Amino acid sequence: MSIHEKVFTYLKEDAVVSCLQTLVRTPSENPPADYSKIVPVLKRKMEEAGLKVEVIGKPGKPNVIGTLKGTVGKPKVVYYTHLDTVPAGDRSKWTFDPFGGVVKDGKVFGRGSCDAKAPATAFMMAAKAIHDAGIKLKGDMIIALMCDEETGWKDGLWYLVDEGYFDDKDVLVGAGTTAFAYSVASRGVFWVELATHGPGSHTMAYSSRNKPINTLYKMVDVLEAIRNVDDWMTYEPHPLFTPEKGNTYTGKPIMEPNVIEASSKINIIPEICKVQIDMRILPTQTCETVLKDLKNVIEKLKEKDPELNADVKVIQAVNGRFHQHDPRDIELMRKVAKTLNKELKEEVHGATLGTSAGQERLEKGKRRINLGTMTTEILSGHSVDEHQLISNLILATKASVLFALELCEIDKSG
Ligand SMILES: [Zn+2]
Repeated sequence: MSIHEKVFTYLKEDAVVSCLQTLVRTPSENPPADYSKIVPVLKRKMEEAGLKVEVIGKPGKPNVIGTLKGTVGKPKVVYYTHLDTVPAGDRSKWTFDPFGGVVKDGKVFGRGSCDAKAPATAFMMAAKAIHDAGIKLKGDMIIALMCDEETGWKDGLWYLVDEGYFDDKDVLVGAGTTAFAYSVASRGVFWVELATHGPGSHTMAYSSRNKPINTLYKMVDVLEAIRNVDDWMTYEPHPLFTPEKGNTYTGKPIMEPNVIEASSKINIIPEICKVQIDMRILPTQTCETVLKDLKNVIEKLKEKDPELNADVKVIQAVNGRFHQHDPRDIELMRKVAKTLNKELKEEVHGATLGTSAGQERLEKGKRRINLGTMTTEILSGHSVDEHQLISNLILATKASVLFALELCEIDKSG
C-alpha cells in the first residue's frame, strides 16, 4: 500500500461529514460577524487533528491558524480559506434549517456548507488523517481560517498580509470553487451609476407645455444607446471567455443595468433618474477606457438632444487579469487530479473580488495551488438551500492530503 493509500484509510467519510455538520451548526454569519461561537469549535477541531493553534488578529477579528509541525519546518505550506459566511437570510425560504447541517441525497445542507466550511473541513480532516496515520512531514502544514472574507477581508487576509504573516511561507493552497480546475483569467468588475437630470414637476404642470422633460425617458435613451456593447465599447473579443469555461457570453464584455431609481410618487415627474450598471469586462480592457467610451456615448447623445443632461459616477472599478502560475504547481495539480481519477481543467472567473482578489494579493512571488472544494454548482453558495456534495468534499479532503504529502514531503528518517 502506498503512503497516501495508508493515509486515506484514516479518512472516514462519516467523520468528515460530521465535521462539516458541526461547522454548519455553529453560525458565523457576517454580518454581524460574531465569531465567538465558531472560534472555539475550530480550535478544538484543529487540536483534535494534532495541530498547534493560535488566534491572530485585531480584537473581535480572529484568524484561526493551526500548524502541523514538520520535522524540518520547510517548506511552509498554507492552506487558507475563510471562517465567516453570508447571513442565512429569510429562513422560511429554506427547505431545511440553515444551521441544521441536514444530510440528504448525498449532500450536506446549510449556510456555509459550501462557502467556505467545506474547504475548512477538507483542510482540517486531511491534516488529521496524516497525523493519525503517524506520517511525519518535513515541512509545516498550516491551515489559516480567516475572518471577514464576505465583507472584503480587510481584517482577515489583508491584515495578515500587511502584518507580514505570509512573507516566510512558500506555497499557498487556496480553496477555489470548482473541483480540479485552476484559474487562468478573471473578468474585471466595473460598476457605475448613470444619472439623468431634469426640472421635475407635477405631471399636470406640463399640461400647458408641449413636451415635458421626463428623466426616466432620457435614461431609456441612454440605455438604448449602450444596450449592445458592440455599438460603443472598444474591446478585442477574447477566446478564453467561453461558456465551456464557465462564462455566460463568448468572448464579450457583459453589461447589465440592474438597479433603477426615479420618482417616488406616481404623479411626480422625476427630477433625477439613476441606474446602476454592472459591467464585467475582459482582462484585455481597462475600466478607464470603458468609462471613456461611456462618456463618449453620452456626449454624442447630448449633441442630438440638447435637453439631455446626463452623467456617470464610478461605484467600483477593478480590472480583470490573466493569472500566472508556476509550472510546477500546474504539474502537481495535474498529478493529484490523476491520482484521484480526475482531469485538471482551466477555469475563467467572472470577477476578481473576494477570494480571487485575495489570491492576487497573496500571489506575488508565491507558488499557489488551487484546491476546488465547493460543488460545481457555485451558485449554491450565498443562496437559499446552500449545500455541499459529500463526494466532492471527500475528494477535496483526499486532494488536500496529496498536496501535503507532495509539498511538505514525507520524512522517512524516523
Ligand atoms: Zn462567499
